[in-house]
Amino acid sequence: MESKRLQRVPSYLFSDLDRKQEALQAQGMDVINLGVGDPDLPPPPHVVEALRQALNEPANHRYPPYAGTKEFREAVAQWYQRRFGVSLDPDREVLALIGSKEGLAHLPWALLDPGDVALVPDPGYPVYKTAVLLADGEPFPVPLDPQSGFLPDLETIPPEIARRAKVFFLNYPNNPTAGVATKEFFRDLVKFAQDYGIILVQDNSYSEIAYDGYRPPSLLEVEGAKEVGIEFHSLSKTYCITGWRIGFVVGNPKVVGALGKLKTNLDSGVFRAIQHAGTVALNGPQDEVLKRLEVFQRRRDLVVNRLRELGWEVPLPKATFYIWLRTPDGSTARTFAETVLMRTGVVVTPGSGYGERGEGYVRLSITVPDARLEEALNRITEAFKGFGQG
Ligand SMILES: *Cc1c(COP(=O)(O)O)cnc(C)c1O
Repeated sequence: MESKRLQRVPSYLFSDLDRKQEALQAQGMDVINLGVGDPDLPPPPHVVEALRQALNEPANHRYPPYAGTKEFREAVAQWYQRRFGVSLDPDREVLALIGSKEGLAHLPWALLDPGDVALVPDPGYPVYKTAVLLADGEPFPVPLDPQSGFLPDLETIPPEIARRAKVFFLNYPNNPTAGVATKEFFRDLVKFAQDYGIILVQDNSYSEIAYDGYRPPSLLEVEGAKEVGIEFHSLSKTYCITGWRIGFVVGNPKVVGALGKLKTNLDSGVFRAIQHAGTVALNGPQDEVLKRLEVFQRRRDLVVNRLRELGWEVPLPKATFYIWLRTPDGSTARTFAETVLMRTGVVVTPGSGYGERGEGYVRLSITVPDARLEEALNRITEAFKGFGQG
């Protein structure tokens, strides 16, 4: 029944995990889900209040402008200026999205012809590869290795592939590895894109989720980046509003315009009340974001310390909600994730779901309440004492 196009892609990693969790819960197991990166903390109260008030305005219940309200696009441009020192034209270089996943998933339809190559990170957020497959493009995996801080080695990309490539998906701070990019790497990347005529697509959904004072850069801070690149952002993770569905893309006006043109034919924009609350979130004080970061940082330290006490080698993430853990005793990602689930009722994501290079890893997320996280760690400690990491 499925089209050949749809047959080329698997069902979404997290919808499979959701089903497994439901089945175990039906059997009475107390499941703790460290699988998905979905903040448990409430959104900043003033942002919720802005949404509440926007609901009382009848005009907000009508179709929004396709590209996003002027108010929202201006707020994005001003936020970029304040946060990164980057100037954007709110009319041509900013586009509102129904979450960044929506924009990322649709982008290949706007840019790729059948057979065009898209460079995708491996491991990587699954949407890049599947979106390319759905648009009849050819994903080419670019390995992210721990030895290079999960940054791709541009020299190892075969020149004949680079010449055929139309887009290059990147994601720093990185999901699932928690790797971060330097501005120097972004400079090399822009040069690479200029040399080969490639469009850089940097997913900066975690730019605000960083620890110990670290402030992740924007690709667009690099000279020449706007000529070759765009950058996606999400309000989901920053303001703990994953269910609201609001994000945006900025950068090269031709690329932003192409995605905008496609979207006018597909959807009818983001609910105006949510765009208004998003505007308030971007324009207002960010102290509520910092308060949430303190909670996430404490949880990060807790997980890293407790797993290290088991004798496991665990890197300390500088950003994101994720601990990217090498599986003990060299078991496969799926075997280890299943063992953890069966022995402890804790869901972790098998790294192989993010690509071949994710084999041998699992991803743990810190987006559950402290008490549940501690309970999960107690169970893991109990179940895996003396289970060395090989
Ligand atoms: C969560 C996530 C997204 C999607 O964010 P939404 O704006 O909620 O669609 C995009 N990219 C990465 C890497 C993510 O982890």
